[in-house]
This record gives sequence, structure tokens and C-alpha cells, in this order.
Amino acid sequence: MRIRTLLITMLVSAMTLVGVLFSALWLVHDRLDTLSDVQTSSQSVLREASELLVLTNEYALRGSERVSDQWRIRQQRLLGLLHPTKGADPATIAELSDQVDALGSFFDRLVDAKAGGDTPFQRLRAGMLIDQLLLRTQALFDQADRWSTSARATERQLADWFHRMVVTLPVIVIVLLAVLSWLISRRVLRPLSRLNEAVLAVAQGDLSVRTATTLRDEIGEVSQTFDALALDMVSQLRQEVAVRRQAEAEMKVQSARLQAILDAEPECVLLLGPNFELLDINKTGLAWIEVASVEEAKKVGLRTLIDPAYRKDVLALFRNAALGKVASIEFRLCGVRGGERWVQSYVAPLTDAQGRIEILSVSRDITVNKQLTMELERQAHIDFLTQLNNRGRFMQLAEAELSRANRYGAHVSVLMLDVDHFKKVNDTHGHKVGDQALVKLGEVCQKTLRSFDIIGRMGGEEFAVLLPQTDQQEAVEVAERLRIAIGDTPVSLAQGLPLHFSVSIGVSTRLSPEDNLDMLLSRADDALYAAKTAGRDRVAVTGVTENLAQPDMKVVR
Ligand code: GH3
Ligand code: MG
Ligand code: MG
Repeated sequence: MRIRTLLITMLVSAMTLVGVLFSALWLVHDRLDTLSDVQTSSQSVLREASELLVLTNEYALRGSERVSDQWRIRQQRLLGLLHPTKGADPATIAELSDQVDALGSFFDRLVDAKAGGDTPFQRLRAGMLIDQLLLRTQALFDQADRWSTSARATERQLADWFHRMVVTLPVIVIVLLAVLSWLISRRVLRPLSRLNEAVLAVAQGDLSVRTATTLRDEIGEVSQTFDALALDMVSQLRQEVAVRRQAEAEMKVQSARLQAILDAEPECVLLLGPNFELLDINKTGLAWIEVASVEEAKKVGLRTLIDPAYRKDVLALFRNAALGKVASIEFRLCGVRGGERWVQSYVAPLTDAQGRIEILSVSRDITVNKQLTMELERQAHIDFLTQLNNRGRFMQLAEAELSRANRYGAHVSVLMLDVDHFKKVNDTHGHKVGDQALVKLGEVCQKTLRSFDIIGRMGGEEFAVLLPQTDQQEAVEVAERLRIAIGDTPVSLAQGLPLHFSVSIGVSTRLSPEDNLDMLLSRADDALYAAKTAGRDRVAVTGVTENLAQPDMKVVR
């Protein structure tokens, strides 16, 4: 049966039952009221009948007119009481009324007999009438008594029943409620609770739970649907698990394949998280940073392994990669045990499963190329014979230093050197000795000058020096010191005494920010010319003058 029908049936039945019970009670109560009235009437009739009996006796003894009047009054009152009342048996009322009426006619005949004279016949007749009257009055009394007794008995019986009902009704209601509760619990609450438990169990992942209900009501239907759904879910889940297991197995194979490829790679492949933390690194990478495992690598701060000169640029590159830019950089990397290498890193953003940006870095070892390039660069900048800066490199470095000096308003001076009578050296001792002399000159320059002074071979046996943070007087002193040192440095010869050679040096100093390198070199060249003209092996300086077009020339020595 459907729950809705069951509930409606139960409700209607309960209401009907309670209604019937209350109606019965109400009827009994009403009947009791009626019986109470009947009882009262019967009592009154009984009382009046007894009074009539007494008055009949009294009239029989005395025969006074007063008693006769009282008897009639009583008889009328009795008749008045015997009208049909609600609840009273009409036959009894009619019978009693007839008896009272009959008493009236007997009493009339008695009064007539009394009034007919005091003859023995009259007395005998009166006596017989009195006996008849007394007997009938007694009969009336008995009848009224029976009526009263019967009414009382009925009333008592009904009252008992009523009380029993009043006591029984709550019990019936309680039993009814208990039955209702049991039915609701059995048909509604328990199945609902079972369904609820099953839903919770499934929600927590236990797909084996079923309600297994056989009810054919609404809850039964929902429970059966739920069981079917759970069954579906289990089969779907099994399929999904099978698919996922296969996918996982394939993924493992692919992952192992990828790992093998990555480990075989001569390049370093590493993966960084969104906060540039190391997530993974291949074997080549581990070898580069000189650790045994990825875990160990994670503990090493990768940024500390980057040459500080490149660290800022590398980190900026990673940050840009996190913003989606693909770029590359070359830098020097140092392993935890001090092994150094030049690497070129390509970085690109990747997106992980949660949509977060990761950074993929693929780096190759470019140490050999880098060293080669650096050597080529060096060779492009260095004079092969003296290992000093060549003219181009000197000009480049000198320009940079001059701009720096301009920025800071520092003094800068330039020296121009030329070997004296070098042709003669070549001619006398050979070109090779001339070369040795040039090499020696370079060594003396490097030894005598400061590390940040820029020395260059400008061509042939001409050299230039840029002296940062050096005013004219200091520059002249430096030039003089250099000239003496060169003059004091012999070049060993295969035969004979060592060769001594001298240099002439021209000095110029930056006088204003407008002085560029060409002007300084030109003025130093002029001074050199002046030194040569003055006899060689000496230092000359362009004087400090207002007229730069025709600078004063001063030969120091
Ligand atoms: P001065 O005192 O006037 O400078 O006389 P000088 O003989 O030095 O004259 P100049 O500067 O004109 O001569 C330079 C000579 O330097 C010419 C050249 O043969 C020689 N020379 C140039 N380059 C080299 C070089 O690389 N090796 C050698 N051994 N000699 C060179
Ligand atoms: Mg020369
Ligand atoms: Mg010369």
C-alpha cells in the first residue's frame, strides 16, 4: 500500500474511531441525564402514591371532607406528574395514569357510598370500596416503586458503562497512537533511516551498501532506484578504475621512457616550480651541480651556484619565463665541489595539472666553445707579440675610461711611447732582437704601471698608455719612471753585451670635458715629437695653456 494511502486510511480510521467513541459517550451522557429526570419523576410519583395511600387510609377511618379534598388534590398532582417525559416508558406512564384515573372513580364511588347513609349495606359497600381503593392504591405504589427501581437500575448500569468508557477511551487513544507510531516507524521511519544510512555510506565511498528493500511504496521506489544507481555507479567505477589502471600503466611506461631519454641527454634538463624551487633535474644536471640525487639537489640553493656576475640576469630570465617569455642566456655555473662550466640555458614556461606555471630549463655545456670564443676574442684584442691590448682594444677601453672620468670629473692623462732609433736596433741585431725588445718593453710597462692603467700597442714600436685618475704632474712622474725603467731593462743577446734601448714619451692630460681621446692622443703625439726633437730618451708634456690650438710644449728632460 502507498504511504499516502496508508496514512490517509490510518488518519481517517483513527478520526472515525475517536468520533464514534466520543459520540457514544455523548449519547450515554445524554441518556444519563434523561434517566436522571425519569428517576426524579418516578420518585415524585412514588412519594405522591404513598401520600395517597396514607390519605386513603385516613379517609377510610374518618371520612372527613377535608381528607377527601386533600386526596383529590394529591390525585390531581399525581396525574400532573404522569405526563409523558423524555426517556420514560410511555406504556408505564399510560398504565400508571390509568390506575390513578381508576383510583379517582373508586374514590368518587366511596364518597357516594359514604354519603348514601349509614345502612349496613352502605357500610358494607363502603368497606368493600375502601378495600378496593387501598388495594389499588397499594398496587399503584408498587407499580411506581418498580418503575423507580427500574429507572435507578438502568441509570446505574449506564453510569457504570459511562465510567468504564471514560477510563477506556484514553487507553484506546494511546493504543491507537501506539499502533500509528508503530506503523509509521515500520513503513516510513525505518525505511527512511535505512535509505539515509545507505546514502551516507555511498557518499563516504562504500559502494557495497544497499537498502535491499521490498516495500512497494514511495520510499520503497526511491530505495530501489538508489540501489540501482549504486549498482550502476559500481559498474561505472569498475570500468573507470580499469581504464585508469591501464592509463597509469601506460603513463609509467612513458614516464620511464622519458626519464631514460632525459637521463641519456648530454644536456641538463630541469624543472622549476612557480617560486623557482627545483622540482626535477636529470642526471646530467646532477653531474653538473655535483650531487647524487634530486633530493640532494633540492637542498642546494641553485642560485648560489650561478656565477654572481650573471645571477641577476639569470633570475630575471626565469621571472620573464614565468610570465610566458621564452629566452636563453649564457652564464658560468659552479658545482658544489667547485667544478666550473659555461652553460647556455633555454627557459620556457610550462603549465602543470593545476594550471600553475612551471619553468622548463634546458642547458647545454658550452665551456669548450666559450673558451674558444674567449680566446678568439682575446686574440682579437691582444697584440700577438707583446700580449698588450692592440690598438682597437686600447681605443675601446680608453674611450670607456674617459667617459667614466667625465662622469665623475676625474683627471685622465695619456702617454705616447716610441722606441728611439728602433730601425737601428733592427738593422744592427736583427728583427728578432727587435721583437724581443718590444716584448721586454711591454713587460716593463705592465710591471711599472698600475693594474687599472690601460696599455696598448698602437703599431710598430709605438705604445700608448691611459692613466685614470692621474693629473699632469703625476702623469709626467709616471712617464719618467717608465722611461727610466725601460732604459734600465736590458735585452739579452746571443752574443756580446746585452742591448739597452730607450724610449721617448709624450704626455697629455685632459683639460676639459670636451677633450676626447683623439685629442688627447694627438696632443701626446705632439709632445712625443717634441721629446724626439729635443734629443730622444726623454719625456715631454703639452703645457697647460689657454691656447689649445698652439699648446706649450715642455720637455721635462
Ligand atoms: P725614431 O727614434 O725617430 O723613432 O727612429 P726610429 O728608427 O725608431 O724610426 P721609426 O720610428 O720610423 O722606425 C720604426 C721601425 O720599427 C721601423 C720598423 O722596421 C720597425 N718595426 C716596426 N714594427 C716592428 C716589429 O714588429 N718588429 C720589429 N723588430 N721591428 C719593427
Ligand atoms: Mg716610430
Ligand atoms: Mg722609433
